[in-house]
Amino acid sequence: MEAEISEIFESIQGEGILVGVRQLFIRFRRCNLSCSYCDTKTSLECFDQINNRILKNPISKEYVQRLIERSTVHSVSLTGGEPLLYADFIRQLKSPVPLYLESNMTLPDAARKVKRCVHYVAGDFKLSAAINNWGEIKEKTIETFKVLKNTRKRMTFAKIVVPEKFSFDEVLWISEQIGDYVCSIVLQPVFGAKNLKELMELQKRIEHDVRVVPQVHKYLGVM
Ligand code: SF4
Repeated sequence: MEAEISEIFESIQGEGILVGVRQLFIRFRRCNLSCSYCDTKTSLECFDQINNRILKNPISKEYVQRLIERSTVHSVSLTGGEPLLYADFIRQLKSPVPLYLESNMTLPDAARKVKRCVHYVAGDFKLSAAINNWGEIKEKTIETFKVLKNTRKRMTFAKIVVPEKFSFDEVLWISEQIGDYVCSIVLQPVFGAKNLKELMELQKRIEHDVRVVPQVHKYLGVM
């Protein structure tokens, strides 16, 4: 089993409710969306920072497995791109530490394949301004949150990236749709947006655990 991976490295988690924990990051190549604010760099080759090696894609499951087994981290972040494009690969990984899935939550069938092996889910809910065909995407997102919902064995939270100008009603609607499936909703301002007052107002109005968390790694200047 192989997967296309663009980077493997250790760093701290810079987003969401586990911000600051040390993780091994497996950054998968390619994504099924093209969001307006996407800052993910893609390269044809894989840079394994742990061993300071550049590898040709695809990368074998055994190679990734060895890195996971040698690492001493809080958890392994499966990020991208969109990691659910490699659900069959992920399903075969055996990890001594929890697997932390960072997903755009638009691939419900792939989510079904990994629902028993991921321990944390940091799931995006895109706002309509970020993507085309939002009407179709939003239904798939709700379905994916339902598949990977928060349970006693899996912590699932939602992340909504909020630009400076946004619709309150849209965020309130999203929160109602997924509130039952997540432990928390994270409002993440687009880097540089000056919308803290509005986000705090939303935090008050959404009847759920809501946290306002910026992309901390950008302020620290780390990956
Ligand atoms: S889902 Fe993430 S990786 Fe994919 S286009 Fe959007 S921001 Fe980029």
